[in-house]
Amino acid sequence: MLEKIEKLSKILNESYSEKSLLNALGEYFSQNFGNKSFYIEINGKKHENKENIENDHVKYPLFKHKKSIGYLCFSNDSEELKNFLQLAAPFISLKLQNILLTEKMQKNINFHETMKYIAKIIETQYELSYVIPIIGEMIDKFFEDYLLYIFLKDEVKGTNYLAWPVACRDTNILGIIDQFEEKIFTDDKRLLALPLRSEGKEVGVLVAKSTEDPITEKDEDYLTQLSAQIATTINRANVYAEILKHATLDALTGFYNRRQLEERIKQEVSNAQRQGAPLCGIMTDIDLFKRVNDTYGHAVGDLVLKTIAKAIRGQLREYDIAGRYGGEEFSILLPFTRLDEAQMVAERLRKTVESKVIDISKVNPDADVKEIGVTISLGIYEMQENDSDEDLLKKADKALYEAKNTGRNKVVVKNV
Ligand code: GH3
Ligand code: MG
Ligand code: MG
Repeated sequence: MLEKIEKLSKILNESYSEKSLLNALGEYFSQNFGNKSFYIEINGKKHENKENIENDHVKYPLFKHKKSIGYLCFSNDSEELKNFLQLAAPFISLKLQNILLTEKMQKNINFHETMKYIAKIIETQYELSYVIPIIGEMIDKFFEDYLLYIFLKDEVKGTNYLAWPVACRDTNILGIIDQFEEKIFTDDKRLLALPLRSEGKEVGVLVAKSTEDPITEKDEDYLTQLSAQIATTINRANVYAEILKHATLDALTGFYNRRQLEERIKQEVSNAQRQGAPLCGIMTDIDLFKRVNDTYGHAVGDLVLKTIAKAIRGQLREYDIAGRYGGEEFSILLPFTRLDEAQMVAERLRKTVESKVIDISKVNPDADVKEIGVTISLGIYEMQENDSDEDLLKKADKALYEAKNTGRNKVVVKNV
């Protein structure tokens, strides 16, 4: 008996999650008491070790302050096991309560981190097409048991359209969204639709759907708080976007933004044509950048973008034009530059970026490395007489595409 107790206390000491405790106990009772099947039931919910479930169970109550909170359920009912449990059940019960409490606290911590993160995104990002997927991924990770949908309000039409994830085939949800006005929580507690409302303005709808257990009160509370934070973020993104319509520079990199870049292309193309001067375009894109975000977080991704932009700028002449074409793609215009010179510039850019060491320790102190590096791929094209404004970058982009497909971290020239 003493030996068995010792073994059990070792298991209790070494288990830190509900699952590992359950597995270890299952194995323990099978080895020491020949019990074939085992699960724990708490507040009516079964926590089972799915592999060995059988029907005829014997239950031993677990207590918390004299109140039964659940059972240890066994397939066998030997005297030996009963006697043992009289002694051991309180310890198992205590450990279980501890684990559940810790898991609950952890969930709370994760929740607050999610909230903080959503609030923080907006400090560096304002494009909804970029912000929403980040939010979507975060809340998906937090609420693993539910399907989550973010709908945004189309300001012009006044209707809501799906923004996360890419598709929703649930006609029930689509019906609700169509006529959405106020919070909806269905009677079966499996569908919750919350307005995304900020500063009195409707910006969209957050929908959570559970295909298994009803949505708990605690999760309803989490979702409500999240919906407020998401709405604030969306609202601010909308306001920024409105302000930035009038801006010319990209906030993160200091390069021309897309709109201004397009203006500058028109000017440079017409200059070059008028003067019969050469003009080259370079398209560049960071290699495997998604991995940087996924591994070290978006804040590090932003830092990398900023650093690379600065490194590129440092290699260009004053009258060269650098623009942020989109996400992690930059465009460079080299006026009065022939293809062979442009090729040298591009190669220099590639080498500069390749050798750049980026210190990420301030932005992400928890990362397992202090410094990282990235590479870029580049495509170049020299404008020809009959080319239109769009041709310049379109053809450079074709070359970039080839650089990506043939190994990355290289320069490819688009021939005429
Ligand atoms: P490839 O070498 O083929 O270009 O791979 P990739 O992972 O770089 O390609 P992909 O285009 O799939 O990924 C680009 C990623 O860039 C996706 C997006 O999350 C990220 N991204 C775009 N804009 C920003 C930004 O402003 N900040 C951060 N942190 N990430 C961004
Ligand atoms: Mg890329
Ligand atoms: Mg890209």
